[in-house]
Amino acid sequence: MRVLVLLGPPGAGKGTQAKVLAHELGILHLASGDLFRAEIAAGTPFGREAKTYLDRGALVPDELTVRMIVDRLSQPDAQAGVVFDGFPRTGPQAEALDAALAKRGTRVEHAIYLDVPTEELVRRLSSRWLCPEGHVYNTMANPPRVPGECDHDGKKLIQRDDDRPETVRARLAQQLAPLYEVVDHYREQGNLSVIDGTQPIPAVSADILRLLRVGDRAA
Ligand code: AMP
Repeated sequence: MRVLVLLGPPGAGKGTQAKVLAHELGILHLASGDLFRAEIAAGTPFGREAKTYLDRGALVPDELTVRMIVDRLSQPDAQAGVVFDGFPRTGPQAEALDAALAKRGTRVEHAIYLDVPTEELVRRLSSRWLCPEGHVYNTMANPPRVPGECDHDGKKLIQRDDDRPETVRARLAQQLAPLYEVVDHYREQGNLSVIDGTQPIPAVSADILRLLRVGDRAA
């Protein structure tokens, strides 16, 4: 099982790059935020509990998050490999992931940090629009061809509730400190690489693929 972790603050481009990587490498894209949103949409008790955190821009408690991820990791479509997007987001989550992978005889191959300054993140998140099928646009950097419509399927684009400016600021304020614990965790393990996430999307993808092919480490 090949395991990659994409790290970065909200809005750094983890989802966009994780999709590219999953496609290029033939492994599963596992986004904790998408799993929470699916539970919320399905109206499960777990989803109702998670929603109270997502609405505030707060992190869902580690125990709930880890349980959800470890369950997902056991499913057949995860066995070839996984690119994690948005997980781990705290030091204890990173440790729990190491333990779950060790049981499967594997480890995180690369943790890739997409580095983007905070002022750019606020700008990106507040101009982010999604299609219900998951295609992501940015009205400034990556606009759809027809305003408000998905290029791929013509569906009406929507804005995430937590991309409203007040929640964006809360997410950044609450989520950056624990994220730095995760960065330190992988730096100590020697498998952290830092990529300039302010570059155009294809340039970021090319940097990541180059890193994976040559096993190069930049941090
Ligand atoms: P995202 O789609 O990755 O921006 O995640 C949306 C929201 O889901 C976050 O603001 C958190 O409330 C929650 N969330 C996602 N991943 C995690 C995680 N690994 N740990 C705790 N909460 C998470």
